[in-house]
This record gives sequence, structure tokens and C-alpha cells, in this order.
Amino acid sequence: METIIAASKNAHKIAEIEAITAKHGLRVISRDEAGVPPFEVEEDGDTFEANSLKKAAAIFEVTGKMTIADDSGLMVDYLDGAPGIYSARFGGEEADDAKNNAKLLALMEGVPYEERTATFVSVITMLFPEGEPIVARGEVKGHLLTAPRGENGFGYDPLFVPVGYDRTFAEMGAEEKNGISHRARALEELDRQLQERRR
Ligand code: IMP
Repeated sequence: METIIAASKNAHKIAEIEAITAKHGLRVISRDEAGVPPFEVEEDGDTFEANSLKKAAAIFEVTGKMTIADDSGLMVDYLDGAPGIYSARFGGEEADDAKNNAKLLALMEGVPYEERTATFVSVITMLFPEGEPIVARGEVKGHLLTAPRGENGFGYDPLFVPVGYDRTFAEMGAEEKNGISHRARALEELDRQLQERRR
């Protein structure tokens, strides 16, 4: 089976990616397993696409082998798309999920339900030794609550209720969230483009 190197160190993300790529005969290995020396990639692009490509390209330059990376975040309409590409460090360089959520809630204080719309975005980039890269984008729209609800998931999950549901991502099981999430939709698009590539 051919292997593909994941730029992410997040085992959960790697497992989600492998569920799709395995169908195409690709086994995902972590950058550590691939023997890539540890280094940080500065995510200083202007878009999810740019940062996702940067992460994949940094690994590809070292290994020359098939590589996959993803970049994701939450875009809030009332905040003109913030935190967007800055989602992970919205509450400051030392921020964690709780600080990020607290900052978001503070900025949204008093904003009525109809104006609390937001979109989770995920962009997955796959680079090959030969041929064009694949860029797959997935989105899910929803509303932000005024206080966190639920214990599951991570990041902004306790504040986000996807359209058509009355529970937050953090109140859903992993399977339910992963069936409808931005990452699931990006992976569906990746699946479609991998099929097209083999024709
Ligand atoms: P990155 O893609 O690993 O750079 O993560 C970006 C940030 O976006 C995360 O640290 C979270 O704050 C947020 N984020 C991305 N995907 C999700 C999700 O599925 N749920 C909640 N927060 C997310």
C-alpha cells in the first residue's frame, strides 16, 4: 500500500483522513513515523488555502513524498470573518480553547440570535511527486450560542449549533459531528478529486 505523510500531529485528524484515503489504497503515516525532523511551520498565509499549502509544502520539501495537510477555523459574520485563520490563537499567543471562546463571547455580547451566524471552514491540501496538487474545501454553517454547552469535541464546538440542529457540536458524539463537519465535507471533496485523478 502506498503511504501518504500527514503534516498534522493530531492523531484524531489523521484517523479521519485515513478513513477516506484508505479507500484509494493510501495509508497515512505521521510526520514522525516518516522520519521528518521536528520543526514548526509559520502559518502566516492570508487564507486557509495558503496555510494548508504551506504546511504540506514544508513536509514535501523534506521528503519528496505524497503529503497531506489541513487548515481550519471559524468565520463569524458579525466579526467580518474573524477569527478565521487566527482561530487557534484568537485569545493571544498562549491562548487555549477556553480563552478563545471567552473572547468570542465577549465580542458577541448583546448580538441577537439572527446575527450570530458563523461558518466552520476546513481546507485540505494534498501534494504529489508528480501532477497537480489537490485542494479540497469544506464548510458548515451555524449559529453561536451566548454560553458554552456540551463537553465533547474541542475548540469552538461548545458554542456552535449547525444549521438544522438544536445541539452544539460539543453535545454531539464524535460520529455525528464527523458526519456533518467542515472537515467531513472537505474529505468528501478530497474523495471526489482522488477518484477523478485516477480516471
Ligand atoms: P488548525 O486547523 O489545527 O490550525 O486549527 C484551527 C483552530 O480552529 C482550532 O484550534 C480551533 O480553535 C478551530 N477549529 C477548527 N476546527 C474545529 C472544529 O471542528 N471544532 C471546533 N473548533 C475548530
